[in-house]
This record gives sequence, C-alpha cells and structure tokens, in this order.
Amino acid sequence: MSDLSYSAQNILKTISGDKRVLIVTHMNPDGDAIGSSMGLYHFLKSLGAHPEVIIPNKMPGFLKWIPESSIIKVFTHNTGKAKEIIRGAEIIFFLDFNSSDRTGKMKEYLSPAGAFRILIDHHPDPGVKADFVMSDISVSSTAELVYLFIEWLGRADMVSPVVAECLYTGIMTDTGCFSYNSSQPGTYRVLSKLLEQGIDKDKIYDNVYDNFSEKRIRLLGYCLDKKMVVMQEYQTAYISLTKKEKEKYSFAIGDSEGFVNYPLSIKGIKFAAFFMENEENVKLSFRSKGSFSVNEFSRKHFSGGGHHNAAGGESELSLDDTIEKFRSLLPLYFEGD
Ligand code: 5GP
Ligand code: MN
Repeated sequence: MSDLSYSAQNILKTISGDKRVLIVTHMNPDGDAIGSSMGLYHFLKSLGAHPEVIIPNKMPGFLKWIPESSIIKVFTHNTGKAKEIIRGAEIIFFLDFNSSDRTGKMKEYLSPAGAFRILIDHHPDPGVKADFVMSDISVSSTAELVYLFIEWLGRADMVSPVVAECLYTGIMTDTGCFSYNSSQPGTYRVLSKLLEQGIDKDKIYDNVYDNFSEKRIRLLGYCLDKKMVVMQEYQTAYISLTKKEKEKYSFAIGDSEGFVNYPLSIKGIKFAAFFMENEENVKLSFRSKGSFSVNEFSRKHFSGGGHHNAAGGESELSLDDTIEKFRSLLPLYFEGD
C-alpha cells in the first residue's frame, strides 16, 4: 500500500542528488534488514546521494560478506557519530520494522526536525510515523519492496548486480529459501529481474548458510538433542539456551538464527519457540504453521510482534519463569489430550 499523496517523480527528486540520506533498520538485524538496507544504499549512491546505514546493534557474521557492509554504523558502538548522522539527515528511510520500539536505544533520536521520512516494510499494522509509506504484508520481504519501490520510481534500470545481490539476500533469507512467505507470483517476477543482473545465487546461498563456525553446528546439535522439549499434546515444541551454554559454545550474535524453525519439522508440531537468556532479558522467537498467529501471541504475552507465522518478543522474567509462563499459556490455545 503506497501513499499516493506523493508522485514517484516527487519522491525521486527528493532522494536524488547531493543529499544526506540515512537508512535505519531494526534491532538484531537479519538478512532482510541488512539486504534491503544495503540494496537501497547502493541504489541511492548511484543516484548521487551520500547514504549512511545505522543499525541499533551488531549484525551477524553471516552477512558481513555483503558488499560495503563495513560502512554500516552500529548505534551502540558508535553512538556519538550515529547521533550526529541522524541529526544531519535530510531523508531517513526506515526499513523492515513497523514500530520504532524495534530500534531500541536509537528510538528517541529518530525524529530530527525537518527530515523527510520514508517507511518501507512488510509487517502488519505499520506504526512508524513517516511522510511516505510503502507497506504491504503480502510481500515476501522488505528487500522485495525495495525493488518495487525502485521500479515505482521508474529507475529499475539502476538495479545493478550489487543492488540485486543485496536484495536477493533479503528475499532468500526472509522466505527461508523460498519455503514460506513466498507464494505470490510477484516474488518470482522480482527474483527473475534480480537474476537477470547475472548474480551468483548459489554463491549467495553459500555465503549465508555454509559459512558457520564448527561450534555453531555443535550448538545446534546440542539444542536439538538435549534442549528441545516436545509437547505433542499441545502441538508445541521449544528450545531454550542459557547464558552459560552460550559461553560454552563461544556464542556469537546470529549463531542461533534459524534454530526456532527445526521443531516445526516434527510431525504434528504447529507451534515452535526458542528462548535465549541474555544479559538484560530473555529473547523469544516464535514460529507457527497454519492459522495460529504467533504475532498475536507474542504481542499479547511477551511485548513483541512480527508476522502471522514468525514473531519475536522479550521477557524480563528469568529464563525458567519465562518458560513456565509460556507453558501455562499453551492450554489456552491448544486443546491438549
Ligand atoms: P526472529 O524470531 O527471527 O528474531 O523474528 C521473527 C519476526 O518477529 C521478525 O519479523 C521480527 O521483525 C519480529 N520480531 C522479533 N523480535 C521482536 C520483538 O521483540 N518485537 C517485535 N515487535 N517484533 C519482533
Ligand atoms: Mn523482513
């Protein structure tokens, strides 16, 4: 759903030329957050702008191969510089989030006077204040929306191989390699446009999924063998990870990406959860199959949100108490035996 109060020409003029443009995405950025941000970054650079990308906290190692991703500034590491860039921004793009709470500590600095704000996102209920909004929950990923945005601007000719590589990464990761959120023919039309740029899709797959540390694979094995609790009576399974266990496996940010999906491959399981103990809170990830909305579940009980079948949240309770709370909610949603 695009905001029709601005014409494409108008927006193109606003973001072109010698402009200070800032791109911001969400906490714990994933492949779509970084892929869409860097795809847009390379596109804006070719329009003559001076884009900057700021993320709230560190990005996972499996995305560091993305061309020029070293320009990305991490708000928590480089707060002074980041605040200065935000203050000076003439245009700010908000990518891949629907609530400014998702930007963590950056939130309070994100409304500098005079900046023109553009939101591009595919989460339900867009709640970020912006001057121009492109939001559609039926689209696979923000990266796909960035392509549609560029096309809407009439500049699809400027989707270079590097832009295509970044956007492909976002679509591939947000659809679990085209296994979910990927039933719309439009996604494949965009993918074919990206492939026409001659990108090496197998290399992108390899960069993202076949470059983990040995410890990460052993951690996955440990989680599945020793830490997964299956409750067939509630069609639910979950995995939890303590700080101590993370230390033992030299846990790095991004190492648990995708763990939450594994329990869903068990016959009869419709709801999967992953709990991770951090210094400051417990981070939760939820996935479901079919009609059960983890977005609503997470919003209601764990101050979170996301999509219908993929959401996240957090808890200030201890890990054990969080799991207890989670278990006590299951009879309200699933019948039990
Ligand atoms: P993940 O489980 O991969 O971290 O996140 C799955 C989905 O839920 C993503 O769309 C992400 O944006 C959203 N999400 C993750 N954590 C949170 C959270 O704490 N709050 C909200 N509102 N959404 C979240
Ligand atoms: Mn996304």
